[in-house]
Amino acid sequence: MKHQDIGWHFDNTYAQLPDHFYTKLHPVPVHEPRLVIVNNALAEELGLNFKASSEDELAQLFSGNQLPEGAEPLAQAYAGHQFGHFTYLGDGRAHLIGEHLTPDGKRVDIQFKGSGQTPYARRGDGRAALGPMLREYIVSEAMHALGIPTTRSLAVATTGESVYRETVLQGAILTRVASSHLRVGTFEYLAAQEDKAGLKQLTDYAIQRHYPEIIDSDTPYLELLKAVMACQIKLITEWLRVGFIHGVMNTDNMAVSCQTIDYGPCAFMDSYDPNTVFSSIDHMGRYAYANQPRIAQWNLARFAEAILPLLHENIEKAAAMAEEAIQSFKALFQQEWLAMMRRKLGLFGEEKEDMEFINGLLQWMQRSHADYTNTFRDLMDEHFPEEPHYQDQEFKHWYDRWQQRLKRNTQPFPSSLCLMGATNPVVIPRNHRVEAALNAVEQNADFSKLYELLDVLSEPYKDKEKYTEFKNPPAPKERVSQTFCGT
Ligand code: AMP
Ligand code: MG
Repeated sequence: MKHQDIGWHFDNTYAQLPDHFYTKLHPVPVHEPRLVIVNNALAEELGLNFKASSEDELAQLFSGNQLPEGAEPLAQAYAGHQFGHFTYLGDGRAHLIGEHLTPDGKRVDIQFKGSGQTPYARRGDGRAALGPMLREYIVSEAMHALGIPTTRSLAVATTGESVYRETVLQGAILTRVASSHLRVGTFEYLAAQEDKAGLKQLTDYAIQRHYPEIIDSDTPYLELLKAVMACQIKLITEWLRVGFIHGVMNTDNMAVSCQTIDYGPCAFMDSYDPNTVFSSIDHMGRYAYANQPRIAQWNLARFAEAILPLLHENIEKAAAMAEEAIQSFKALFQQEWLAMMRRKLGLFGEEKEDMEFINGLLQWMQRSHADYTNTFRDLMDEHFPEEPHYQDQEFKHWYDRWQQRLKRNTQPFPSSLCLMGATNPVVIPRNHRVEAALNAVEQNADFSKLYELLDVLSEPYKDKEKYTEFKNPPAPKERVSQTFCGT
């Protein structure tokens, strides 16, 4: 397998940064690798072609047994606040194998997850199980199809080795593609060591890589903080649009590129409840659906603290600058959220009452356990209020108000329908469907449900006859109330 045939073009810049930022080391070879799935559509976008390679060659590649030419594997050092508590972390079971340049000049990290222990593994085994890696594959690809910034999944291979969790599971490695793996926690790592020179190098690197437009600013570090805040606000608003709950919004799981990263116990909400939590380890609801904006702000405050010494040489002035930026989060978020909700309801123009009006619908949805995804699609159907579910007075009153509001729109009704159709997905990766697909693979080596689900989720705004059943919320016995980190 020649890397020229596949199209690899490595250009590794992170490996040029000071060597305490990472540890260079190879993935730990695995016993008997097998290819489980490869994402040929993504490969094409990246200028890669795996079609001429044999299954065995791909298994060797995507298990880390045989690295492509130009790879320079390393584990990144980072820290982070986990559920509010600071910890030194780092890639305990991941290897960045290098940065690939796509034909259109984009730089992407290629990273293995589950590829063996590193010096940052603490007590972990360095491995990952098949279920959680496929879960990340499904959900990250679904997020991409929903139009939400995210890391992507290029392949999953099994290792032929067992991993021991509550039960014995099959080991697997995910190949993740990310615009970078610079996390808030990467900055915290250098800040905690009071390594100001390293911090400056990392921050300049981040600006160069993700925000080149601010390089020439007089206050580039403050601009970086503001830029990351602006795009995190956009990202979290997108999560709320589709009912996504990340589940572990620790600062090490927040990327400064503003891609959604690290799919652990994430899940999508079925019936609307702002307090929804799925993660089995989130006992306090810290990362509940509606708490995500607040947590993003909290994480950004940790980011601001980390880069504080760069903001101004006078630390009091620096703190004041950071404080002012972080304080602006709430208003900026509200504006973004309101604009998103207006789109979900096909509203053009702005009215003072919009916020209260939108919350009226959400409150009704919460009280009546309405399905978050389906309610917005139902609104697009002119016959829908006849359904029994919508026959209560509170809803009818809201619906009349909506009709009035639509009449005052600055654009005609077909434009509203069009906007709603592009904003409200028909299908989301509902948890019971994801679990069913993973169970079929893990228990019976049956991939049909997985492939079907991936196909369903690849065009989530199209209402396809053959996929009608995928719109259904879980029946009571199908409901999945908890998801696990799978570490
Ligand atoms: P995560 O919950 O996946 O974001 O991981 C949090 C931290 O734990 C990261 O530093 C991971 O590299 C590390 N980690 C998670 N699982 C393992 C494992 N099985 N072996 C070693 N390190 C792990
Ligand atoms: Mg993580």
